[in-house]
Amino acid sequence: MIRSAFLPAIFTQSSGLVVLGKSSFSQNSSRTAERRSLPGAILIASPCPVCREHPLQGRQTACSAACRRERSRRREAEARQHREDELRVLALAARQAIEALERRLADAK
Ligand SMILES: [Zn+2]
Repeated sequence: MIRSAFLPAIFTQSSGLVVLGKSSFSQNSSRTAERRSLPGAILIASPCPVCREHPLQGRQTACSAACRRERSRRREAEARQHREDELRVLALAARQAIEALERRLADAK
């Protein structure tokens, strides 16, 4: 009889562990937005995603102004990289089209 009284506590504990597991997973993926989508999750102070040293406070997404600047610099670099990749794909497609045209011209001779 006494033992059954402990059961709900064990269940609560095990579901708490699941929440902990989930929230530490979202921490690993360094996406703080996922943390907000888990309202029941136990909030663990996660480190700043930029410097990974200082813990974030409240709704902060970076620990300091310097880290916010660094993050926007990284995002711009990422966007630039993405545009360059797109141009590279276009250049490759253009080169292949030119080569195909050249082959067709060579065959026509
Ligand atoms: Zn930081």
